[in-house]
Amino acid sequence: MSFPKLRLRRLRKSENIRRLIRETNLSVDDLIMPLFVRPGKGTKQPIPSMPGNYQMSVDMITEEAKELEGLGIPGIILFGIPEKKDEMGSGAYTDDGIIQQAIIAIKKAAKNILVITDVCMCEYTDHGHCGFVRRDDRTGHFDVDNDMTLELLVKEAVSHAKAGADIIAPSDMMDGRVAAIRDGLDEHGFEQTPIMAYSAKYASGFYGPFREAAESTPGFGDRSSYQMDPHNASEALREVSLDIDEGADIVMVKPALAYLDIIRRIKDTFDYPVAAYNVSGEFSVVKAAAEKGWIDEKRVALEILTGIKRAGADMILTYWAKDAAGWLKKYV
Ligand SMILES: [Zn+2]
Repeated sequence: MSFPKLRLRRLRKSENIRRLIRETNLSVDDLIMPLFVRPGKGTKQPIPSMPGNYQMSVDMITEEAKELEGLGIPGIILFGIPEKKDEMGSGAYTDDGIIQQAIIAIKKAAKNILVITDVCMCEYTDHGHCGFVRRDDRTGHFDVDNDMTLELLVKEAVSHAKAGADIIAPSDMMDGRVAAIRDGLDEHGFEQTPIMAYSAKYASGFYGPFREAAESTPGFGDRSSYQMDPHNASEALREVSLDIDEGADIVMVKPALAYLDIIRRIKDTFDYPVAAYNVSGEFSVVKAAAEKGWIDEKRVALEILTGIKRAGADMILTYWAKDAAGWLKKYV
């Protein structure tokens, strides 16, 4: 009698054999921690929908960056909550803006951690949309003006680079924004600054808690005219292809968990560095269930992060980055 499955089982019987044949190894090297910076001094305000995450003033976020650097985390991505919001999102591109101040302080204190900056308008506009909104006189509808928005995004990206940002990450999904930002950076002497493009960004319900964190809920309408329909996959490949043609160095899929197939298809099709954004809703549902004692947070979080990596992500933006850095250390 033959037992063909025995051959597979023999290789699972000890932890050391499992370690040797393991195909995906999650490590701290894969992780990027998102952080929220707000005005003030000595402020560390908890974000209720995202336990363990805070809106921090520049001094506090600098301390946090030093701690993350000490844990071996390669990079952070910054989101800003400006002092005031306006129609033009001017807080996004002034040289003394909240993000610009944070970059300067962090680069001084934590030299070995990459500072990635999210480039978008939604945190800075009073209506919460990702760009400049114009009223169509013919239909009476409000819509985002793509070309006007591009100008503002370029200003924002250049001002981040001037402050010392290591990677620029446009998340707005406007047409032509990667090429426009690439040109703007090059013109100002930042040819060496890579662009991580939010290429396949879906209109998702999983962003809910983030909008509380970044105070960026649209005041009217939604973002489905410029974010992708969750039903589509080939369209994601076209978005990625366009962004690579325009000069993206790293392409991103957001969210991660409901889109693992997209991550895999992009990795297989383009063989470019792929980032996956394990978004706030994906984090908060696990936190909430863990608080009720329904699941083991650490086990589930590591399983999720490993799954995202196995799907093909080279790097993962995740609110678990700090905790995972500690959890993963034990196995080294
Ligand atoms: Zn946005």
